[in-house]
Amino acid sequence: MTPPRRRPSFWEPKYTDVMSARSAPAGVTSADTRGRWGEYGGVFVPESLMEALRQLEAVRVEAWTDPEFHAELDRLNREVIGRPTPLYLASRLTTKVGGARIWLKREDMAFTGAHKINNTLGQLLLTLRMGKTRVLAETGAGMHGVATAAAAAYFGIPCLVYMGAEDTRRQSHNVARMKMLGAEVRPVTNGSETLKDAINEALREWVSTVETTHYVIGSVVGPHPYPQMVGDLQSIIGREARGQMLELTGKLPDAVVACVGGGSNAIGIFRGFIDDAGVRIYGVEAAGTGAKGAPHSAAIGLGRPGVLHGARSYLLQDNDGQILPAHSVAPGLDYPGVGPEHSMLKDNGRVQYLTATDADAVAAFRTLASSEGILPALESSHAVARGMDLARSLGKDGDVLVCLSGRGDKDVDIVAGMLGL
Ligand SMILES: *Cc1c(COP(=O)(O)O)cnc(C)c1O
Repeated sequence: MTPPRRRPSFWEPKYTDVMSARSAPAGVTSADTRGRWGEYGGVFVPESLMEALRQLEAVRVEAWTDPEFHAELDRLNREVIGRPTPLYLASRLTTKVGGARIWLKREDMAFTGAHKINNTLGQLLLTLRMGKTRVLAETGAGMHGVATAAAAAYFGIPCLVYMGAEDTRRQSHNVARMKMLGAEVRPVTNGSETLKDAINEALREWVSTVETTHYVIGSVVGPHPYPQMVGDLQSIIGREARGQMLELTGKLPDAVVACVGGGSNAIGIFRGFIDDAGVRIYGVEAAGTGAKGAPHSAAIGLGRPGVLHGARSYLLQDNDGQILPAHSVAPGLDYPGVGPEHSMLKDNGRVQYLTATDADAVAAFRTLASSEGILPALESSHAVARGMDLARSLGKDGDVLVCLSGRGDKDVDIVAGMLGL
């Protein structure tokens, strides 16, 4: 199949990268002062957005050193999100697999049902700090749109969400949720009518409203400072999990596993363990059906570096640099790129990137559901699948920590369809 010819999109490498390359040492958890992660990241945007990004970076840096900002973020984490989320010993799953203990970091128990709210509430705080009065987001499956709409409703700020028209049909339930939360949902009828087109529309809208509007990006992607900022906001997952592991087991886990779409839940949990040389870290990308030549979402495993949506990173592209369509049974993993921090962590070897197929994920979904009574998100099920393998290979004295990024209620129709239920 030949991929559809890509129209010149908004964030194209024709804009000069204002940051020049500089390499970062192995394992670092922040971009250098130019927004680079080794040779990745940067700021590939039109000049009209530079001022908004500079303002965001200035406010971010200032907020990060302000105890009042952290006090307010802590309060939101506790009172709105319900943090800390539990660290859960999956004992029946452990027995079934017959190896290392399997621990789940229960981000599925966070408000709105996934880790995305950790990021959106934090970005809303920064929106207020910048004196902006409106937020804009784009969403693929709708989970980031729902988390942004909920955060905007909490602060009483108007919210506009762009969503590919095809996605609004596939995920009509999340469209209804966003509308009920008071957001305006604008279907995008350009191109393939999916996430990539929604991102381009959101960026066009942002250019014309940048004075009053903050663009809430949903993962560790986009131009600097987004990958840094979103990673910082999600790093609460890893800080909590590290403390909880030490408290409950007296040691660190042998392995940490998370699924990788754009990569924010993974960066969130990895940041807690990057400096612990004895902890092996694994990211799991979506292999789709796994058939030769079929579309998948393994940007790190099978992609090449290039520029998309404002930053340089691993991407799915053909020999002419055309972006290839991504596929995964998990709607939240269906993205042709990945965050620049992951690209660096792949190259410096600190993190190993594995894949799981649609069938692996559905099998893991069923195993976790029947052994623990938990319906995991299909995204998270990719991490559960490889986490079970690692547990088997580690043996009984080991501990494997899996990031359960979200709950699977949103996926019951997909799984029921695949299983003929
Ligand atoms: C959106 C989503 C993901 C993928 O996003 P990352 O930025 O890679 O974390 C994973 N799991 C769930 C439950 C999601 O909603």
